[in-house]
This record gives sequence, C-alpha cells and structure tokens, in this order.
Amino acid sequence: GPNRLPEPAPRGPWVRLAGQFRNVLVQVLIVAGVVTAALGHPVDAAVILAVLAINAVVGMVQEGRAEQAMAGLRNLLAPRATVLRDGRRRTVAGADLVPGDLVLLEPGDLVPADLRLVSAQALSLQEAVLTGESVPVDKDPAPVAAAAPLGDRQGMLWSGTRVMQGTGRGLVTATGSATELGRIGGLVAAVEPLTTPLVRRMDRFAALLARAILLVSALILAWGLYRGQSFDDLFLAVVGLAVAAIPEGLPAVMTIALAVGAQAMARRHAIVRRLPAIEAVGAVQVICTDKTGTLTLNDMAVAAGTTPAGDFGVAPDGAVAGGGDLGPLARAAALCNDAELHDGPDGPRVEGDPLEGALLAFARQAAPGAGQGWTRRATVPFDSRSRRMEVLVQSPEGRLLRLVKGAPEAVLPLAPGAAAWLDRARALAARGLRVLALAEAEAPEGAPGPWRVLGLVGLMDPPRSEAVAAVAQVRAAGIAVKMITGDHALTAQAIAAAAGLARPDRVLTGAELDTMSDDDLARAVLDTDVFARTAPEHKMRLIAALQGHGLSVAMTGDGVNDAPALKAADVGIAMGRRGSEAAKDASDLVLADDNFASLAAAVREGRRVADNLRKVIVFTLATSMGEALTLAVALVFGLSLPVTAVQILWINLVTEVTLGLALAFDPPGRGAMTRPPRPPGAPVLTRGLVWHAGLVSLLFLALVFGLYAEALARGLTVPAARTLALNALALLEILHLLFIRNLNGDPPDGPIRAAPVVWGMIGAVLAAQAAITWAPPLQAVFGTAALGWVDLGRLAVAGAAFLAVLAAERAVRHRLLG
Ligand code: ATP
Repeated sequence: GPNRLPEPAPRGPWVRLAGQFRNVLVQVLIVAGVVTAALGHPVDAAVILAVLAINAVVGMVQEGRAEQAMAGLRNLLAPRATVLRDGRRRTVAGADLVPGDLVLLEPGDLVPADLRLVSAQALSLQEAVLTGESVPVDKDPAPVAAAAPLGDRQGMLWSGTRVMQGTGRGLVTATGSATELGRIGGLVAAVEPLTTPLVRRMDRFAALLARAILLVSALILAWGLYRGQSFDDLFLAVVGLAVAAIPEGLPAVMTIALAVGAQAMARRHAIVRRLPAIEAVGAVQVICTDKTGTLTLNDMAVAAGTTPAGDFGVAPDGAVAGGGDLGPLARAAALCNDAELHDGPDGPRVEGDPLEGALLAFARQAAPGAGQGWTRRATVPFDSRSRRMEVLVQSPEGRLLRLVKGAPEAVLPLAPGAAAWLDRARALAARGLRVLALAEAEAPEGAPGPWRVLGLVGLMDPPRSEAVAAVAQVRAAGIAVKMITGDHALTAQAIAAAAGLARPDRVLTGAELDTMSDDDLARAVLDTDVFARTAPEHKMRLIAALQGHGLSVAMTGDGVNDAPALKAADVGIAMGRRGSEAAKDASDLVLADDNFASLAAAVREGRRVADNLRKVIVFTLATSMGEALTLAVALVFGLSLPVTAVQILWINLVTEVTLGLALAFDPPGRGAMTRPPRPPGAPVLTRGLVWHAGLVSLLFLALVFGLYAEALARGLTVPAARTLALNALALLEILHLLFIRNLNGDPPDGPIRAAPVVWGMIGAVLAAQAAITWAPPLQAVFGTAALGWVDLGRLAVAGAAFLAVLAAERAVRHRLLG
C-alpha cells in the first residue's frame, strides 16, 4: 500500500449538521418554534422550523465544501522524495516509496520512511517528533548493538525526522503505519479549522451581540406585557426582533470568504498553510525575497569563464570558444557534482540542482567524456555557509584527486595568486553572472598536494519576465521589495537592476552586516534593497530590524536554515519546488512555482479577502441593525408592526445571507494594488464605517416606516402595506450591497458591470421577492398581498433617496474622516 499515515477521519455530514445547532440563534428559534406551536399558530411554527432546517442544511453543505477545499490544498503539499531507481536519480511522491527503495537525503529533507543508512557524509538529524530531543543527532552507517534503544540506533533514520546537515543514502525498511512514527500512532496533521484572528474576534463579537439582543428582547417583551399587550401577539414579534438583530449569517459568510480566498490563491500557485496568512499577506509592507528561482528562472547555463590559458565564451547553442585546454575544468565540473542529466525527447533534463545541471551540460560540450570512469571516494557537501563543495575522486588507474567548486572567495584563497583570479571573478559577476571557481589538488594517500585553480565559470540565470512585472506591481501597491541572496554583490546588483528594484546600487554584504550594530542596521535597512553574500542567520537580523520599525514583513526561503526566519516573519513563504520540507513546514504560504509573480497575486488576493471581510461585516451589521431598529421602534411605541415575525425571518435567512454571500465572492477592487497597505493594527471598523452603519440603520427605519405609514394612509390593507415594507427592506439591502462593494472608492469592475456571482445572487433575491409577493401559496403562508405599479414606483423613489443620501454621506465622510 501507499507510504502514508492514516488520516484523521474527516467530519461527517451528520457531525457538521449537529454543529449547526450549537448556534445561539438556532437554539432560540427552536424554542420559539415550539412556543409558537403551543400558542396555536401551526403555520408560523412550521415556517420557523422550515427556515431553520434550510439554514442548517445550507450551513452544513457550505462548511463541508470549505473543509474539502482546505483538505485539497493540503494534498497539493504532499512531500516528495529523491530515490535511485534502475541506477538513476529521480524524484517521486513520498507515498510511492516501497521497502527496498534507495533514498537520497539532503539538508532540509523530511525522512520519507524508515531507512537503514547505507552511506553518510556529516549527516545529522533532528528527531524531536519521535524522541522529543531537539538537539540534532549524528548518524553513521556503522552497526550498533542489537539491543540498542531507538535513540541510539545511529544506522537508522526514522520517518518524519528531518535532515539538518550533511547528505546520505538509506534503504527503505518500513513504510506507512509500519514505521516507528506509525507505530506510536502518528497522524497526518488534521485539517486546520477555517478561522483567523479576525474571524475569531467577530465570532466572539457576534456571540456577545446575540446575548445582548436576547436581553433587550426580553426587556421589550416585559415592557409590552406591562403596557397590557397580550403575550400571544408580543411573543412572535419579539422573536422576529431577535432574529433580525442577531447577525447570524456573519461567521459563516466570513468563513466562506476565507475559503474563497484560499482557493483563489491556490489557483495562482500560492498555497496557504496557515489561514491567518490570507489576511496577513494582504497587509505586508516589506517583501524580502530570494533571488535564484524567485526573481530569476533558475534555468542556468554557463555563459562565459576563464582558465589559466585565457577567457572562453559559450554560445547560446552551447558551443564553447577559447580558453585553451578545457579538459581539467570540465572534469572537475562533471565530477564535483551531484546532479544528473537525463536525455528526454525535448533535450536533456536536469535531475538535481539546476546550477550543477548547467555545469554537467557545459562539461559535455567543453570536453566530451570528461571524468568518465572516475569514482567518488568522499564528499564534503555544499552548504550555504562554506559556499563550496569538495569531493575526493579516483581514476581507473588509481590516481586520487581532490576537487572543489564554490564561490570564488571560498575557493580561490586555497591556491596562490588569488588576487588576480578574484579580479576576473568580479568582472564576470558585474555582468550579472553567478560565478563559481573550481580547483583541484593531487591527493596521493598520506600527502595531499597544493591546490591548482582550474578556472572560473559564469552562469547566466535570466530574470523571469513576469517577476519583473510583479515587482513593479507590488511596488505600486506601496510594498518595499528587498532581495536577499547568497550571491556576489555585483551579480546581485545586476539582477536587482534587471528585476526593477528601487535601489539596486546600494548593497550590503553579509560581512558588512556582521560588523554593524543593531542600531546601525536599523538605520540602514530602510534604504537598502540588496543584501548579498548573506547566510541564513542574516535573515533573522534583517527581519528584526524591519519589524523594529513596526513594519509587517514577508520573507521567502528554501533551505533548512531559513526555517527560523520564516517563522519569525509576519508571513513566511517557502518555495514549493526548490524549497526543503523544513522550510515548507515553517512557512505560512508556499509558492508552488517558486515565482515572485505568484507572491504578487497572493498579495492581491489577500487584500481582496480583507476588503470582502470588512464589506461583509459592515453590510451585515448595518442591515441587521436597520431591521431590528424598525421592529424595536414599533414594539416600544405599541405601533402595528411594519413586517411580521415570519416575514422578518424570511428577510434574514433568505435575503440577507444570500446577499452577504455575494460579497464573499466579490473580485478585488480596481485599486487593490495601487493603495498602500493598511497599517498593522488598524481597526477593522474605522470610525467612518461605524458611522456609516449607523446612518444606514436610521435610513432603513425612516424609509420602511415611511412607506408603511404612507401605504396605510393611502388606504392599502395591512397585508399589502406590510408586503410593501418587506420589499422595501429587500430593495434597500440590495442597494446597500451595491454601495458597500465600493468600500474603498473603487468598485471591483465598474459600478454596473459587477461580478456575475453578485448579479446572480441579486437575481435570486429578486425572484424570491417576486414569489413571496405574487405567488398565492407563499402569500398564504407569509401573509403577503400583491403589489401594484404605484407601489413599485414608491419603492423606486425610496431606493433613489437611499442612494442619494448615502452618496452625499460618502462625500462628506471622505472629506471629514478621510
Ligand atoms: P539565492 O537567493 O540567489 O538563491 P542563495 O542564498 O540561495 O542565493 P546559495 O545557493 O547559498 O545562494 O549560494 C551561495 C553561493 O554558493 C553561490 O553564489 C555560489 O557561488 C555557491 N554555490 C551555490 N551552489 C553551489 C554548489 N552546488 N556547489 C558549489 N558552490 C555553490
């Protein structure tokens, strides 16, 4: 079977349905339904219970879809493993491993199954998931005593643990639940609940509001009884008031807005791992990005280089010209290398690091057959601190050679004459090339010889065109973009300029950062956009310096050493392809295609979700309060109700929730990426919005009452006047919806050409209103009556007045409150 741990059982439909009844409003309605039936109003009781049932089923289905969407996202992040099959290196899904597979491990890898170590170079693992011990453990293939406890079996690697350093190969001995992790009952992490700090805050607020409303309703009931109204009449009206005022749809609609956002991000290759990231990514003020693969294509090719005999160039078709005898350089490039080239129908494909793949392709061209027959005896793997890789190789005749390749500063000082070579390296770097130096030394057993520099190669890695556009886009959105790279300062500058960063010429290197105090760094960090020759720990200092200015920082990373920085950032972003499992695990967001453009898309979606959440909140609170106020005024002053209790139920559960849902799907506003980010800690509801919500409630009260009173004065029957008031409520909600879409003064796609889903929802509400107004069966149940043209004309006038007041109010509000 597949190499997978059992998954926690998903919540079944019945569990989700039962969950719907935890809602205070639902409980109140059940009680109300029962009391109404007991009071002898079977039709009203049936309506209440039917509305309840519909509401619960809709909630259950929506939650199920949202949960499914999130589970789907998790599947996109399934781990992969590198194996040797038929003697060739390939990448497979972790679930496809079987006992007997030979797995290759690098720093940052998650051990995909239990493995017997076959070979290891400086390998150490973090086994905290199994042993709780957070200090990395060294591993070695040597046998241990048969009775050694788990933690002492150094020749074994356990599924779920993490490679911190070194490389190794291991043979799969157990998969799935047969692994040690499976045996202690390890589970795949459960689906995260669909919630964020904002949603939780609103949930708590809604629950509090519900209690307050129940209290007020009880007081109004008592007041009515005191004035001598019959309990029978009052009870249903007060229930209607409570239903109107409680924003029951709010938590569900907010959850859906988040799920919609997460799915839209996934379509744009940004996969959310922690939901609060959806809001946070829309609010970032600084993005610190990697260079290779994110801003560039990570599609490397050797473009130029030097040997002791002179410079060489490489034509686009790969032909090499100049440089004298390229044999030794090509041999080192081919042997000090962990990648493989697999010949496929559309040319050779790299399995492994693209940089090493480019070196293999170069070696093939420069000196075909270079390094053939040589075998590797030992390896010191590349790591981002030493910036070099070294191997010991042996020829078929038994000659031993040490080969090293790496950053020029890390390799050239090994041999005499470094200064002249470093100058040549700088010249290559200034062309935007990533430069590697290669050197070799004879290594007869016992007496290693001196190092000889074999040459330099400059690799070209062109910027991604869509990343250039995306950098411009996020900069227009008021976000600073900083590049953090392990490359040489000159290479970094050239790429920064090509990518369109603000100040490509000002560079700070890792060595300079090391000599700066935190205060110096705090001053320099705002004006510097390029950080070169950095090690992962520099990322931590940069985040601290930026966050010290109160900025919200997004940081990308791929290596195992980037994990702390990804955790410390406000939004940690890991690379889906190039990134290690360790980086993904520490991140909030994963870019499936490693592309900066996907990050820009995520920012846009994040802003959309945050805007839509605010729209949903303002819309729901304003309309709920408007309806409640209308009923409360009637009740307190003992007037006849402009809408009955069952009618208000209809408005709430059919109209308001449907329209709120439309907002959850609203596309991003046109200005979403030209506005500066919202300052961190800004309240969700600004003073302006609270005032707006208050005004809308008052307009609801005035217009609904006005229409109702005028209708009665015109001699309409009470049912007809109520039907007019009912339709006025629905109309005002629709108009308010259209108005609130324009929250930031930028309608998503023009005021009229709204998103199809918005018009779909509005159409559905209009159809439902037509049905309740003119369909005899619904008339019988809800006590409505048909309206005439005169009434519809009155509705149109009321709607126009509503919009006119709101437009005037917006103009004034923007002038006064900004
Ligand atoms: P970027 O954000 O541009 O990817 P990085 O921090 O990931 O930068 P590293 O991969 O750590 O950069 O590389 C730093 C330097 O180490 C490179 O400039 C190069 O000189 C050298 N280097 C990179 N990969 C290898 C390798 N496989 N073998 C030897 N040296 C390497």
